[in-house]
Amino acid sequence: MQESKYKEHWHTIIIGAGAGGLFCAGSFPAPKLILEHNAIPGRKLNITGGGKCNFTHQPVLPTDYVCSHKHFPHQILAAYQPKQFTKFLEEQGIDFTLQENGCYFAKRAADITQMLYKRAKKQNTTFSFNTHVTQVIRKNEEFCVQTDKGNFYTQNLVLASGGISYPDLGATSLAWKIAKDLGLSVVEPMPALVGLRVDKSLRPLCTALAGNSVYVHVQTDHHLEKGQLLFTHEGFSGPVILQASLYWKPGNPITINFCPQVDLLAYFKEHKQEAHTFSKIAQPFLSPKISKILLSEQNVMAADATKQQLVQAANRLNHFTFIAQDTTGFSHAEVTRGGIDTCQLNPKTLQVKTVANLYFIGEAVDVTGRLGGYNLHWAWASAMAAAKNLM
Ligand SMILES: Cc1cc2nc3c(=O)[nH]c(=O)nc-3n(C[C@H](O)[C@H](O)[C@H](O)COP(=O)(O)OP(=O)(O)OC[C@H]3O[C@@H](n4cnc5c(N)ncnc54)[C@H](O)[C@@H]3O)c2cc1C
Repeated sequence: MQESKYKEHWHTIIIGAGAGGLFCAGSFPAPKLILEHNAIPGRKLNITGGGKCNFTHQPVLPTDYVCSHKHFPHQILAAYQPKQFTKFLEEQGIDFTLQENGCYFAKRAADITQMLYKRAKKQNTTFSFNTHVTQVIRKNEEFCVQTDKGNFYTQNLVLASGGISYPDLGATSLAWKIAKDLGLSVVEPMPALVGLRVDKSLRPLCTALAGNSVYVHVQTDHHLEKGQLLFTHEGFSGPVILQASLYWKPGNPITINFCPQVDLLAYFKEHKQEAHTFSKIAQPFLSPKISKILLSEQNVMAADATKQQLVQAANRLNHFTFIAQDTTGFSHAEVTRGGIDTCQLNPKTLQVKTVANLYFIGEAVDVTGRLGGYNLHWAWASAMAAAKNLM
């Protein structure tokens, strides 16, 4: 994309031409400059939802988000709801579908990116691509934005530079560096909506089952998730684990129930006299391939089992408890949890309380949604909140 000629003093500069930056730019008319170090807008947006962009959910509730100050997202989410974004897409001629599970998908994520890009240009936005922002300095009621293309000055500054997941697509920790330089605090960023790695003792089990998928319940940090688990060579993944990773705190135990339909302790007791292994007895609830490997040496004949062996076998399948070594990291995480501490932001506008005319929106902020379109919805809703204040 061509770089534009730009003047040096702006009403507003937005850093980042991702989901939040593009939507914000197109939502208010003042002349503005977007600085983006990629050569094109919305590189991450283009690959969301496997290229089909799960752009929101029906419904979106504050409880679908994790935030250190849990009431913070309420006003912003109430002010911009899923039906407002779907109406906006209809007006812009973008086709989409609503799935049974409440997820909205477009036909092509790139259509949304291109629409947002054109809309922003119509709303007085100049784009400067291939421009890497390095620092921001507050000078005489203005911000001086330093880049590898020189300095730019602005009255209002919107940080829409995202989190640090998928660094190959342009993600950086710029927002948090700028926040810290300006004396603001940042909640420790962690990978979220991500697979979990197990330690050496569980690796052979996971490797033996890699590629297999099973419906489970996962309990972590007082939170219960239900859904499909996928065994990987490194540990566990699949939608239920990605969701659980949002709530998991390193070092805390995770419990998987591989047979949530049944209390296996009671069931094994009922079948105690049978000349079958526990995996055979559990067959109505779990494939023998999976149960044999999970049970390992506990997979003995029920009739020969001691009381302790029976309890251990039932626990292994109903309460498989382990401590994850870590996640598969930011390069595989769909989002970054943590970010700008929201106690420093106005809960209606996302303006920084102590630094006038400075805004943080999108994934850079310590508001992280579940899998299912919530993170893009937060990008839209937070962008709109800032834009309204910049009108
Ligand atoms: C593989 C994948 C699939 C996903 N699918 C979904 C989905 O279907 N639904 C959903 O709700 N969420 C999804 N997400 C999450 C969602 O994409 C993000 O939460 C959302 O894009 C965040 O928007 P943002 O504007 O805050 O940041 P981004 O969209 O990441 O935009 C930030 C922009 O800032 C630019 N930037 C960063 N640093 C600098 C710098 N120093 N100088 C200049 N520019 C800079 C970046 O290049 C980038 O363009 C997915 C994420 C991934 C990785």
